[in-house]
Amino acid sequence: MRINVTRSSMPPFEEYCEEIRDLWDSHWLTNNGQKHIALQRALSEYLHTPQLELFTNGHLALEALIAALSLEPGEIITTPFSFASTTHAIVRRGFRPVFADVLPDGTIDPQSVRRLITPETRAILPVHVYGRLCDVDALQQLAAEHGLPLIYDAAHAFGVTRNGVSAAAFGTASMFSFHATKVFNTIEGGAVATASPELAQRLALERNYGITGPEDVVSVGGNAKMSEFQAAMGLCNLRHLPQEIEARRQVHNAYLQRLDGLPVELPAPQQGVSSNYAYFPVAFDGRSQRDAVCRALAAQGVYARKYFYPLITDFECYRGRPGFDSARTPVARRLAESVVTLPLYPGLPPEELELICHVIGEVLLHG
Ligand SMILES: *Cc1c(COP(=O)(O)O)cnc(C)c1O
Repeated sequence: MRINVTRSSMPPFEEYCEEIRDLWDSHWLTNNGQKHIALQRALSEYLHTPQLELFTNGHLALEALIAALSLEPGEIITTPFSFASTTHAIVRRGFRPVFADVLPDGTIDPQSVRRLITPETRAILPVHVYGRLCDVDALQQLAAEHGLPLIYDAAHAFGVTRNGVSAAAFGTASMFSFHATKVFNTIEGGAVATASPELAQRLALERNYGITGPEDVVSVGGNAKMSEFQAAMGLCNLRHLPQEIEARRQVHNAYLQRLDGLPVELPAPQQGVSSNYAYFPVAFDGRSQRDAVCRALAAQGVYARKYFYPLITDFECYRGRPGFDSARTPVARRLAESVVTLPLYPGLPPEELELICHVIGEVLLHG
């Protein structure tokens, strides 16, 4: 048996069939159909956000968000400790990414961001990595001081709240991913949450060719619409979300209990933050120990992932580009070399969790 780092959540087969049944009556498969409208409403409520625009995936949502801000050409400050999407979105939209270092927990370091702000800076794009909230207060203050849009890659932070306030409430806007491997999925999917109706309107134009009416095209948008089948999957998965997060919490706590006392760094709770238990990152004592653990797990059919290694600044596609230098972000580099995210999904069998922890213990004790 092969154990991967995630396993996609799916509703009961019959529930999905029931949900898509009316599509055979309406023959309306995309373009703001009933499922799309229902999911948009349900998710706005779940995320406590006044405006929510759905997309076919998180990456195109992020690209649309960058485009919808209508910024002058220039730099966007971000983190190299993330999934490829974050920096790719900046580059594909014609901006220069500038890389701030991270804090030991993997979230962007506001002091590092501050030092990188120049007259060329157009926006700040931090990531709530592993669902850990960034220092949103410090970042908000920085953005306000310099009049910069603050847009979050909140792909990992669906359902996370701080003192009861949704992750969707911070900054100018937040992108969420509903990819199959995320805590909440629509197979492929994503969204942008914002308080600004004007920004929401521009996002909708980006999503559908800039079309406002049968004979009216007002901007050069692309196509990033969520289909009715994706939205139907979302409506089903949303019904089961509280149990899914509770099941994740149990796996998370079982890991904590089982790995307690080992010389590794385990995820620590954030003050006032209710977690979605999206990932279980463990930091080892450097690269050779981390890699030994990965090899030993793989030998048992367990495929943990080195999220996020390599740093984006070390990707082959960016080699030699000015500013792409992981030596400038030493905390991120150290973290990328020492971290592994362990398999975590609702229903991870206890004996598999026991095996994973046993293997880790053996490597730590005997090398
Ligand atoms: C998943 C992810 C994305 C992209 O979302 P997709 O829905 O897969 O396009 C962006 N950023 C981060 C940090 C992610 O994990």
